[in-house]
Amino acid sequence: MSALQDQYGRTFRTLRVSLLQHCNLGCVYCVAGEDDLKQANAGKESLPVDGLLAMIGRLRDRLPLDTVRLTGGEPLLYPGLTALIRGIRAAGIGAVRMTTNGFLLERMAVGLKEAGLEALNISLDAVDEDVFFRMSRRHSVTRIIKGVDAAIAAGLRVKINAVMMKGINDCQLLPLLEFAFSRGITVRFLEVMAMGHLHDTAGRYLVSQEEILRTIGGHYRIVPEERAASATARYWTTDAGHRFGIIANESEPFCRDCDRLRLDSSGHIYGCLSSNQPITLQPHETAAEWDIKLREALGQKQALKFVGSDLSMLRIGG
Ligand code: SAM
Repeated sequence: MSALQDQYGRTFRTLRVSLLQHCNLGCVYCVAGEDDLKQANAGKESLPVDGLLAMIGRLRDRLPLDTVRLTGGEPLLYPGLTALIRGIRAAGIGAVRMTTNGFLLERMAVGLKEAGLEALNISLDAVDEDVFFRMSRRHSVTRIIKGVDAAIAAGLRVKINAVMMKGINDCQLLPLLEFAFSRGITVRFLEVMAMGHLHDTAGRYLVSQEEILRTIGGHYRIVPEERAASATARYWTTDAGHRFGIIANESEPFCRDCDRLRLDSSGHIYGCLSSNQPITLQPHETAAEWDIKLREALGQKQALKFVGSDLSMLRIGG
Protein backbone atom coordinates (compact mmCIF):
# COMPACT_ATOMS: atom_id res chain seq x y z
CA MET A 1 0.00 0.00 0.00
CA SER A 2 1.33 3.41 -0.96
CA ALA A 3 2.25 5.82 1.82
CA LEU A 4 0.96 8.69 -0.27
CA GLN A 5 0.38 11.65 2.04
CA ASP A 6 0.79 15.39 1.84
CA GLN A 7 2.07 17.88 4.42
CA TYR A 8 -1.40 18.06 6.05
CA GLY A 9 -1.58 14.26 6.38
CA ARG A 10 -4.11 14.01 3.55
CA THR A 11 -4.35 10.98 1.32
CA PHE A 12 -7.02 9.53 -1.00
CA ARG A 13 -9.59 7.27 0.71
CA THR A 14 -12.70 8.14 -1.32
CA LEU A 15 -12.86 7.80 -5.09
CA ARG A 16 -15.60 9.68 -6.95
CA VAL A 17 -16.13 8.18 -10.36
CA SER A 18 -17.94 10.21 -13.01
CA LEU A 19 -19.49 7.53 -15.20
CA LEU A 20 -20.54 9.80 -18.04
CA GLN A 21 -21.00 13.47 -18.94
CA HIS A 22 -24.59 13.05 -20.09
CA CYS A 23 -27.56 14.14 -18.03
CA ASN A 24 -31.32 14.00 -18.44
CA LEU A 25 -31.83 17.24 -16.48
CA GLY A 26 -30.42 20.66 -17.33
CA CYS A 27 -29.74 22.16 -13.90
CA VAL A 28 -28.83 25.83 -13.81
CA TYR A 29 -25.66 25.23 -11.75
CA CYS A 30 -24.32 22.71 -14.27
CA VAL A 31 -25.29 24.14 -17.66
CA ALA A 32 -25.96 27.64 -19.02
CA GLY A 33 -28.82 26.39 -21.23
CA GLU A 34 -30.03 23.65 -23.56
CA ASP A 35 -27.13 24.18 -26.03
CA ASP A 36 -24.62 23.72 -23.24
CA LEU A 37 -26.41 20.51 -22.18
CA LYS A 38 -26.52 19.24 -25.78
CA GLN A 39 -22.78 19.80 -26.05
CA ALA A 40 -22.15 17.84 -22.85
CA ASN A 41 -24.50 15.09 -23.99
CA ALA A 42 -22.58 14.82 -27.25
CA GLY A 43 -19.39 14.48 -25.22
CA LYS A 44 -16.87 11.71 -25.27
CA GLU A 45 -17.68 8.03 -24.91
CA SER A 46 -17.39 6.74 -21.36
CA LEU A 47 -15.02 4.01 -20.32
CA PRO A 48 -16.78 0.62 -20.42
CA VAL A 49 -17.37 -1.42 -17.25
CA ASP A 50 -14.21 -3.56 -17.61
CA GLY A 51 -12.06 -0.48 -18.30
CA LEU A 52 -13.41 1.28 -15.22
CA LEU A 53 -13.01 -1.80 -13.03
CA ALA A 54 -9.41 -2.20 -14.18
CA MET A 55 -8.65 1.42 -13.23
CA ILE A 56 -10.48 1.24 -9.91
CA GLY A 57 -8.70 -2.04 -9.07
CA ARG A 58 -5.29 -0.52 -9.77
CA LEU A 59 -6.11 2.58 -7.74
CA ARG A 60 -7.31 0.39 -4.87
CA ASP A 61 -3.92 -1.41 -4.98
CA ARG A 62 -2.06 1.90 -4.62
CA LEU A 63 -4.34 3.78 -2.18
CA PRO A 64 -6.19 3.09 1.10
CA LEU A 65 -9.54 3.41 -0.71
CA ASP A 66 -12.57 2.47 1.37
CA THR A 67 -15.37 4.19 -0.55
CA VAL A 68 -16.33 4.61 -4.18
CA ARG A 69 -19.04 7.14 -5.04
CA LEU A 70 -20.54 6.86 -8.51
CA THR A 71 -21.65 10.12 -10.07
CA GLY A 72 -21.70 11.96 -13.38
CA GLY A 73 -23.41 13.37 -15.47
CA GLU A 74 -26.28 11.15 -14.48
CA PRO A 75 -24.98 7.74 -13.33
CA LEU A 76 -28.34 5.98 -13.80
CA LEU A 77 -27.87 6.49 -17.57
CA TYR A 78 -24.68 4.41 -17.56
CA PRO A 79 -25.13 1.02 -19.26
CA GLY A 80 -23.84 -1.83 -17.11
CA LEU A 81 -24.32 0.08 -13.87
CA THR A 82 -25.25 -2.94 -11.74
CA ALA A 83 -22.35 -4.99 -13.18
CA LEU A 84 -20.04 -2.13 -12.28
CA ILE A 85 -21.34 -1.99 -8.69
CA ARG A 86 -20.94 -5.76 -8.31
CA GLY A 87 -17.41 -5.54 -9.73
CA ILE A 88 -16.36 -2.77 -7.33
CA ARG A 89 -17.72 -4.72 -4.36
CA ALA A 90 -15.96 -7.86 -5.60
CA ALA A 91 -12.71 -5.85 -5.75
CA GLY A 92 -12.96 -5.48 -1.98
CA ILE A 93 -14.21 -1.89 -1.69
CA GLY A 94 -16.55 -1.85 1.30
CA ALA A 95 -18.82 1.06 0.48
CA VAL A 96 -20.25 1.83 -2.95
CA ARG A 97 -22.48 4.91 -2.96
CA MET A 98 -24.04 7.05 -5.64
CA THR A 99 -25.16 10.60 -6.33
CA THR A 100 -28.12 10.75 -8.71
CA ASN A 101 -30.93 13.05 -9.78
CA GLY A 102 -33.31 10.13 -9.12
CA PHE A 103 -35.23 10.55 -12.39
CA LEU A 104 -34.83 6.86 -13.33
CA LEU A 105 -34.62 5.55 -9.81
CA GLU A 106 -38.10 4.16 -9.19
CA ARG A 107 -37.60 1.12 -11.40
CA MET A 108 -33.86 0.73 -10.66
CA ALA A 109 -33.70 0.99 -6.86
CA VAL A 110 -34.14 -2.72 -6.03
CA GLY A 111 -31.55 -3.82 -8.61
CA LEU A 112 -29.03 -1.31 -7.31
CA LYS A 113 -29.48 -2.53 -3.74
CA GLU A 114 -29.14 -6.16 -4.86
CA ALA A 115 -25.95 -5.30 -6.75
CA GLY A 116 -24.39 -4.01 -3.51
CA LEU A 117 -25.06 -0.27 -3.51
CA GLU A 118 -25.13 1.00 0.06
CA ALA A 119 -26.32 4.58 -0.07
CA LEU A 120 -27.71 7.24 -2.35
CA ASN A 121 -27.53 11.01 -2.35
CA ILE A 122 -30.49 12.18 -4.37
CA SER A 123 -30.33 15.70 -5.74
CA LEU A 124 -33.67 17.43 -5.28
CA ASP A 125 -33.55 21.21 -5.34
CA ALA A 126 -37.28 21.85 -4.86
CA VAL A 127 -40.49 20.04 -4.03
CA ASP A 128 -42.61 22.61 -5.86
CA GLU A 129 -42.85 21.63 -9.55
CA ASP A 130 -42.51 25.19 -10.90
CA VAL A 131 -39.47 25.96 -8.78
CA PHE A 132 -37.99 22.59 -9.68
CA PHE A 133 -38.42 23.49 -13.36
CA ARG A 134 -36.59 26.78 -12.79
CA MET A 135 -33.67 24.82 -11.32
CA SER A 136 -33.56 21.82 -13.65
CA ARG A 137 -35.36 22.89 -16.87
CA ARG A 138 -37.46 19.70 -16.55
CA HIS A 139 -40.77 18.75 -14.92
CA SER A 140 -39.92 15.76 -12.77
CA VAL A 141 -40.62 16.32 -9.07
CA THR A 142 -43.36 13.67 -8.78
CA ARG A 143 -41.21 11.13 -10.56
CA ILE A 144 -38.16 11.86 -8.41
CA ILE A 145 -40.20 11.63 -5.21
CA LYS A 146 -41.34 8.18 -6.34
CA GLY A 147 -37.66 7.35 -6.83
CA VAL A 148 -36.84 8.56 -3.31
CA ASP A 149 -39.62 6.40 -1.85
CA ALA A 150 -38.55 3.37 -3.92
CA ALA A 151 -34.96 3.73 -2.71
CA ILE A 152 -36.05 3.95 0.93
CA ALA A 153 -38.31 0.91 0.46
CA ALA A 154 -35.41 -1.01 -1.14
CA GLY A 155 -33.35 -0.46 2.01
CA LEU A 156 -30.88 2.03 0.57
CA ARG A 157 -29.60 4.76 2.91
CA VAL A 158 -30.95 7.95 1.35
CA LYS A 159 -29.99 11.58 1.74
CA ILE A 160 -31.34 14.54 -0.20
CA ASN A 161 -28.94 17.16 -1.57
CA ALA A 162 -30.30 20.59 -2.46
CA VAL A 163 -28.20 23.43 -3.89
CA MET A 164 -29.68 26.68 -2.62
CA MET A 165 -29.70 29.55 -5.12
CA LYS A 166 -30.87 33.03 -4.16
CA GLY A 167 -33.95 34.18 -6.05
CA ILE A 168 -34.38 30.77 -7.73
CA ASN A 169 -35.14 28.09 -5.13
CA ASP A 170 -34.35 29.60 -1.71
CA CYS A 171 -38.11 29.62 -1.02
CA GLN A 172 -37.83 25.79 -0.91
CA LEU A 173 -35.60 25.58 2.15
CA LEU A 174 -38.38 24.80 4.65
CA PRO A 175 -40.51 22.70 2.24
CA LEU A 176 -37.45 20.52 1.50
CA LEU A 177 -36.71 20.21 5.20
CA GLU A 178 -40.31 19.16 5.91
CA PHE A 179 -40.25 16.71 2.98
CA ALA A 180 -37.11 15.01 4.34
CA PHE A 181 -38.35 15.00 7.95
CA SER A 182 -41.66 13.44 6.83
CA ARG A 183 -39.70 10.49 5.43
CA GLY A 184 -37.19 10.27 8.28
CA ILE A 185 -34.24 11.07 5.99
CA THR A 186 -31.54 13.74 6.07
CA VAL A 187 -31.46 16.71 3.72
CA ARG A 188 -28.23 18.63 3.10
CA PHE A 189 -28.25 22.17 1.75
CA LEU A 190 -25.31 23.09 -0.47
CA GLU A 191 -23.84 26.53 -0.91
CA VAL A 192 -23.50 27.14 -4.65
CA MET A 193 -19.93 26.86 -5.96
CA ALA A 194 -18.16 28.96 -8.60
CA MET A 195 -17.95 26.23 -11.23
CA GLY A 196 -18.39 26.12 -15.00
CA HIS A 197 -20.56 28.95 -16.35
CA LEU A 198 -21.06 30.22 -12.75
CA HIS A 199 -17.32 30.73 -12.33
CA ASP A 200 -17.63 34.52 -12.06
CA THR A 201 -21.23 34.87 -10.96
CA ALA A 202 -21.90 32.22 -8.26
CA GLY A 203 -21.63 34.89 -5.53
CA ARG A 204 -24.84 36.49 -6.79
CA TYR A 205 -26.76 33.31 -6.03
CA LEU A 206 -25.07 32.33 -2.79
CA VAL A 207 -27.36 31.48 0.12
CA SER A 208 -24.84 31.26 2.93
CA GLN A 209 -24.74 28.77 5.79
CA GLU A 210 -25.57 31.64 8.14
CA GLU A 211 -28.71 32.55 6.15
CA ILE A 212 -29.79 28.90 5.99
CA LEU A 213 -29.37 28.51 9.74
CA ARG A 214 -31.20 31.77 10.42
CA THR A 215 -34.22 30.62 8.39
CA ILE A 216 -34.32 27.14 9.89
CA GLY A 217 -33.59 28.47 13.39
CA GLY A 218 -36.69 30.69 13.07
CA HIS A 219 -38.84 27.56 12.90
CA TYR A 220 -36.96 24.83 14.79
CA ARG A 221 -34.75 24.67 17.86
CA ILE A 222 -31.52 23.18 16.51
CA VAL A 223 -28.33 21.82 18.06
CA PRO A 224 -25.08 21.39 16.09
CA GLU A 225 -23.24 18.04 15.96
CA GLU A 226 -19.45 17.59 15.95
CA ARG A 227 -18.09 17.54 12.40
CA ALA A 228 -16.80 14.08 11.41
CA ALA A 229 -13.27 13.86 9.94
CA SER A 230 -13.13 14.39 6.14
CA ALA A 231 -16.87 15.15 6.03
CA THR A 232 -18.23 17.61 3.49
CA ALA A 233 -21.28 18.45 5.60
CA ARG A 234 -21.92 19.69 9.11
CA TYR A 235 -25.09 18.48 10.77
CA TRP A 236 -27.70 19.83 13.17
CA THR A 237 -30.51 18.06 15.04
CA THR A 238 -33.95 19.41 15.92
CA ASP A 239 -35.78 18.90 19.21
CA ALA A 240 -37.81 16.16 17.52
CA GLY A 241 -34.58 14.34 16.61
CA HIS A 242 -34.63 15.21 12.88
CA ARG A 243 -31.28 15.85 11.28
CA PHE A 244 -30.18 18.16 8.46
CA GLY A 245 -26.81 19.19 7.08
CA ILE A 246 -25.11 22.06 5.28
CA ILE A 247 -22.26 21.71 2.79
CA ALA A 248 -20.73 25.14 3.16
CA ASN A 249 -17.94 25.21 0.59
CA GLU A 250 -17.76 28.96 0.80
CA SER A 251 -18.53 29.82 4.45
CA GLU A 252 -16.81 26.88 6.10
CA PRO A 253 -14.41 25.20 3.66
CA PHE A 254 -13.35 21.63 4.38
CA CYS A 255 -10.21 21.26 2.29
CA ARG A 256 -7.92 20.61 5.27
CA ASP A 257 -8.86 16.96 5.62
CA CYS A 258 -10.30 16.29 2.17
CA ASP A 259 -9.66 12.68 1.16
CA ARG A 260 -11.34 12.67 -2.25
CA LEU A 261 -9.87 11.68 -5.61
CA ARG A 262 -11.94 12.10 -8.79
CA LEU A 263 -11.86 9.88 -11.86
CA ASP A 264 -13.76 11.18 -14.90
CA SER A 265 -15.52 9.20 -17.61
CA SER A 266 -12.49 9.32 -19.92
CA GLY A 267 -9.98 8.05 -17.34
CA HIS A 268 -8.51 11.34 -16.08
CA ILE A 269 -7.95 11.93 -12.40
CA TYR A 270 -8.29 15.17 -10.44
CA GLY A 271 -7.09 15.71 -6.89
CA CYS A 272 -9.29 18.73 -6.33
CA LEU A 273 -12.43 20.37 -7.68
CA SER A 274 -10.56 23.68 -7.83
CA SER A 275 -8.22 22.19 -10.38
CA ASN A 276 -9.30 21.81 -13.95
CA GLN A 277 -6.01 20.17 -14.90
CA PRO A 278 -6.82 16.56 -15.73
CA ILE A 279 -4.10 13.97 -15.18
CA THR A 280 -4.23 11.00 -17.53
CA LEU A 281 -3.60 7.52 -16.17
CA GLN A 282 -2.71 5.07 -18.94
CA PRO A 283 -3.33 1.33 -18.55
CA HIS A 284 0.14 0.46 -19.92
CA GLU A 285 1.98 2.64 -17.38
CA THR A 286 3.81 1.05 -14.46
CA ALA A 287 2.81 1.27 -10.80
CA ALA A 288 5.71 3.70 -10.24
CA GLU A 289 4.41 5.95 -13.02
CA TRP A 290 0.89 5.89 -11.51
CA ASP A 291 2.36 6.78 -8.10
CA ILE A 292 4.03 9.88 -9.56
CA LYS A 293 0.71 10.95 -11.10
CA LEU A 294 -1.21 10.26 -7.88
CA ARG A 295 1.30 12.41 -6.01
CA GLU A 296 0.74 15.15 -8.59
CA ALA A 297 -3.04 14.83 -8.04
CA LEU A 298 -2.59 15.10 -4.27
CA GLY A 299 -0.52 18.23 -4.87
CA GLN A 300 -3.55 19.80 -6.62
CA LYS A 301 -5.48 19.96 -3.32
CA GLN A 302 -6.00 23.43 -1.96
CA ALA A 303 -4.64 24.17 1.51
CA LEU A 304 -7.66 26.18 2.64
CA LYS A 305 -10.55 26.65 0.28
CA PHE A 306 -12.11 26.01 -3.10
CA VAL A 307 -10.98 28.71 -5.52
CA GLY A 308 -13.30 28.10 -8.46
CA SER A 309 -13.11 26.09 -11.65
CA ASP A 310 -14.02 26.59 -15.31
CA LEU A 311 -15.18 22.99 -15.45
CA SER A 312 -18.78 22.26 -14.59
CA MET A 313 -19.51 19.38 -12.18
CA LEU A 314 -21.41 17.77 -15.03
CA ARG A 315 -18.03 17.06 -16.62
CA ILE A 316 -15.75 16.46 -13.64
CA GLY A 317 -18.37 14.60 -11.55
CA GLY A 318 -20.43 16.04 -8.69
N1 SAM B 1 -26.71 13.86 -11.98
C1 SAM B 1 -26.40 13.53 -10.64
C2 SAM B 1 -27.18 14.39 -9.67
O1 SAM B 1 -27.93 15.26 -10.12
O2 SAM B 1 -27.06 14.16 -8.48
C3 SAM B 1 -24.91 13.58 -10.29
C4 SAM B 1 -24.10 14.67 -10.86
S1 SAM B 1 -24.56 16.30 -10.38
C5 SAM B 1 -23.23 17.23 -11.08
C6 SAM B 1 -24.22 16.21 -8.65
C7 SAM B 1 -24.50 17.37 -7.83
O3 SAM B 1 -23.45 18.29 -7.88
C8 SAM B 1 -25.68 18.26 -8.11
O4 SAM B 1 -26.90 17.77 -7.89
C9 SAM B 1 -25.38 19.37 -7.16
O5 SAM B 1 -25.78 18.98 -5.87
C10 SAM B 1 -23.89 19.45 -7.24
N2 SAM B 1 -23.45 20.63 -8.00
C11 SAM B 1 -23.21 20.75 -9.32
N3 SAM B 1 -22.77 21.99 -9.62
C12 SAM B 1 -22.75 22.67 -8.45
C13 SAM B 1 -22.39 24.00 -8.08
N4 SAM B 1 -21.95 24.88 -8.98
N5 SAM B 1 -22.46 24.32 -6.78
C14 SAM B 1 -22.88 23.42 -5.86
N6 SAM B 1 -23.23 22.17 -6.15
C15 SAM B 1 -23.17 21.80 -7.41
